[in-house]
Amino acid sequence: MFNIILFGPPGSGKGTQSENLIAAYGLQHLSTGDLLRNEIANQTVLGLEAKSIMDQGQLVPDQVVVGMISSALDTNPQAKGFLFDGFPRTVAQSEALDELLRLKDTEIGVVLALEVSEEELVHRLLNRGLTSGRSDDNNESVVRARIKEYHNKTSVVAEYYSRSNKVVKVKGEGTVDGIFAALCSEIDKRLSK
Ligand code: ADP
Repeated sequence: MFNIILFGPPGSGKGTQSENLIAAYGLQHLSTGDLLRNEIANQTVLGLEAKSIMDQGQLVPDQVVVGMISSALDTNPQAKGFLFDGFPRTVAQSEALDELLRLKDTEIGVVLALEVSEEELVHRLLNRGLTSGRSDDNNESVVRARIKEYHNKTSVVAEYYSRSNKVVKVKGEGTVDGIFAALCSEIDKRLSK
C-alpha cells in the first residue's frame, strides 16, 4: 500500500490534482470536503451541523472528520492505497490518522505540499465561486477566514510530518499538467525505492 497526503491551503489545487493522481496510480480518493458536502446534500444531522461551520470558513470538529475517515478506510479494504485530500487539517487529525493506518499495518508514504501565494489563492477561490455553487467560495471574508484557519491550525501538519522526513514541497503555480508532472516525479522516486 502507498498512501499519499495531498497538502496545501484552500485553493491550492488539491481537488484538481487528486483527480489526476487517483487515475494515474489507482488510488482511493478520500476528500473530507467531498465527504462533508455529501452529508450536506443528503441532509444528515452531521451535514446540517457541518454546514454552518463550513459557511463561516472554520474547521469542523476533529472527531467528526476522523470518524468519516475511519469508516471510509474500513469500507475500502481492497484499496491499493489512499490519497488523502483536505485531511489531516490539524495535528490531532494527523495523530489519529497515523494510528488508524498503523492498525492496518500501513503508513503515509509521502506528504506532497502544494505552495501557492495568498493573493493567488483568494483569486482562484473567488473565481471558483462563480461556478462551483459552493457557499464558502463566493464571499471574500469567508475565503480569507479559511486561509486564516489554514495558517492557525493546518500549516503545523506539515511540521508534524517533516519530523519523519515525509514532506515534499511542490510549486502549485503554473500549468495543471506541469504541476501534475512534478507531483508524479516525487511519487515515482518513492515508489521505486
Ligand atoms: P478547500 O480546501 O478548498 O477549502 P475542502 O473541500 O477541502 O475545500 O473543505 C471545505 C470545508 O470543509 C473547510 O473549510 C472545512 O470547513 C471543512 N473541512 C474539510 N476537511 C476538513 C477537515 N479535515 N477538518 C475540519 N474541517 C474540514
